[in-house]
Order: sequence, then C-alpha cells, then structure tokens
Amino acid sequence: MTRVTLCPVCSDPESPITDQADSFPFCSERCRDRDLGGWLRNQYKIGSRPVESDDFAEGLSPEPEIER
Ligand SMILES: [Zn+2]
Repeated sequence: MTRVTLCPVCSDPESPITDQADSFPFCSERCRDRDLGGWLRNQYKIGSRPVESDDFAEGLSPEPEIER
C-alpha cells in the first residue's frame, strides 16, 4: 500500500511524496538537505552531548527534551 504524505519542509500540496520516493519523506533532495541542515543546527544548539540511539527508542516524541 502506498502512503502519500506532504513534505515536512515545504508542505507543498503540489508535491505529494510517496513512501517509495528516493527522497522520502521529503519531496526532493533539496528539502531533505534543508531539513538535515536544520536538524544539525538544532542538535548543535542543544548540543551538550550526542544523541544516543537509546534516546530514540525510549522517547518517541519528535520534540527534543531539554530538561530531564
Ligand atoms: Zn519539500
């Protein structure tokens, strides 16, 4: 089953993405690069320690936890 979603970067309804697209979940490589750049900058700002894979498994929230 093919899922169609909108790009989380530009949310362009003219550019729906299928989960089979090379750039999924983004509409294009350009948006993927933009999102990756923003993510890296965010990590850098929070930045006291690298994110460990355990954090991904436990906290499925997309919001970064600033205080613990
Ligand atoms: Zn996009």
